[in-house]
Amino acid sequence: MRLLLVEDHVPLADELVAGLSRQGYAVDWLADGRDAVYQGASEPYDLIILDLGLPGKPGLEVLREWRAGGLATPVLILTARGSWAERIDGLKAGADDYLTKPFHPEELTLRIQALLRRAHGLANQPQLEAAGLQLDESRQCVSRDGKEIELTSAEFRLLRYFMLHAGQILSKSQLAEHLYDGESERDSNVLEVHVNRLRGKLGREVIETRRGQGYRYAGVSA
Ligand code: CA
Repeated sequence: MRLLLVEDHVPLADELVAGLSRQGYAVDWLADGRDAVYQGASEPYDLIILDLGLPGKPGLEVLREWRAGGLATPVLILTARGSWAERIDGLKAGADDYLTKPFHPEELTLRIQALLRRAHGLANQPQLEAAGLQLDESRQCVSRDGKEIELTSAEFRLLRYFMLHAGQILSKSQLAEHLYDGESERDSNVLEVHVNRLRGKLGREVIETRRGQGYRYAGVSA
């Protein structure tokens, strides 16, 4: 999953980028509100974390412009402690959730996971589950019938994306756009290697190849 972080406080931004990357998210970081208006609308982010106090353009204004332009990406806003008016304005402007600074990194992680499940119609799942496989996002492993299967970090990222899009045909370019940040090189051969390794661990039938279209995560019958 690819996230955009808009935060002008550099030490906090550094910490968040490092933490989110460890959890297998591809993160692009911006500090200026004007840049955010453009990039948030032009790159295919799965979720956006938006600070409200920003140089260039206030976060609230950025959010209003995104929503007015039709952007439906889930947005979590970061607000100052005690500022209930800011939270209300943010929710009215189209934020999906908020977090008050300072916050515990784990709370951010859990909110991101919940927002992504909700955005994919899986709000009823406290843990990602698709046809017999359960994904533990905090430990980055998957289990079937209570038996754990270890994953590398690249396999985990890929499987999480598949499980959030179970049953859908995903092209290689779509996968690459959502698994790598804007700075990374996107190599579809590497993607193929990871798909094949996942098949080796989970069973060939789990990920179907659609000739000329891409892949479809079907899951095995429960
Ligand atoms: Ca700020």
